Amino acid sequence: MKRCWLTLGRKDHISELDASATPGWRGGAARARKQTDGLRDQLLGLQERLFAESRQKLLVVLQAMDTGGKDGTIRRVFSGVNPNGIRVARFGRPSELELAHDYLWRAHARVPERGQIVIFNRSHYEDVLVVRVNSLVPEQTWRRRYAHIRDFERMLVDEGTTILKFYLHIDRDEQRERLQARLDEPSKNWKFDEHDLVQRRKWDDYMLAFEDAIRETHTDEAPWYIIPANRKWFRDWAVMSILVDALGRMDPQYPKPDFDPGSIRVE
Ligand code: ADP
Repeated sequence: MKRCWLTLGRKDHISELDASATPGWRGGAARARKQTDGLRDQLLGLQERLFAESRQKLLVVLQAMDTGGKDGTIRRVFSGVNPNGIRVARFGRPSELELAHDYLWRAHARVPERGQIVIFNRSHYEDVLVVRVNSLVPEQTWRRRYAHIRDFERMLVDEGTTILKFYLHIDRDEQRERLQARLDEPSKNWKFDEHDLVQRRKWDDYMLAFEDAIRETHTDEAPWYIIPANRKWFRDWAVMSILVDALGRMDPQYPKPDFDPGSIRVE
């Protein structure tokens, strides 16, 4: 597969990565959308085999700034997938019960079962992102978490889960336009949250937090993919391509029947 994501070199800053880039893609939006539709057919077939095989598990982690396109990506990439085999887990502000536990508790409770794809719409990474930027815990507490997260994810992988982590990268101008659209278009008003404006003022702090989180937790077994996400058609195509490639490598198989189908006749 061609590389359709951005990499973060040792000296790079995320804010310097071009959120409008289209790595690995030549051509326009229309062709990308068409190819995404073709890839979705493959995804549906692979997901059915994953579900039938009922052995392997796939965890997809989606992180982004507000308006980064997490919901849209889920809607477009996974539309038509058999709902029995897929689940979306949202991670909002922790409840009292969740806060009474360690921060990984609510994530662990929602990881995929055998045969399932689970999408984390936000995730345990909020505990080194929003929590860090807003100083909800002391620095020494969130700094220790990178190691916990690496260990947690390695454990999941050792126990049969494939993990793909996506950071949907938009830039500050794109966020302004998307937030403004939520004010200008009545059908989008419900998405507007004044709290997002408060977080927007901390943009640079968020970029640093993402940068550290990605550097500290990018591993061979649970890699991060930085997807330039200003252009939605590219974002969808890139995420879809990586997913189909990963599922293809998982190569789920229909289970062999433990009976001879030819020897049975339905009257
Ligand atoms: P979304 O913005 O993903 O569509 P919501 O509007 O429900 O969903 O927002 C969820 C909010 O919860 C976000 O502002 C996010 O930063 C916040 N959040 C998630 N996890 C935590 C956490 N562990 N601590 C504090 N806030 C969190």
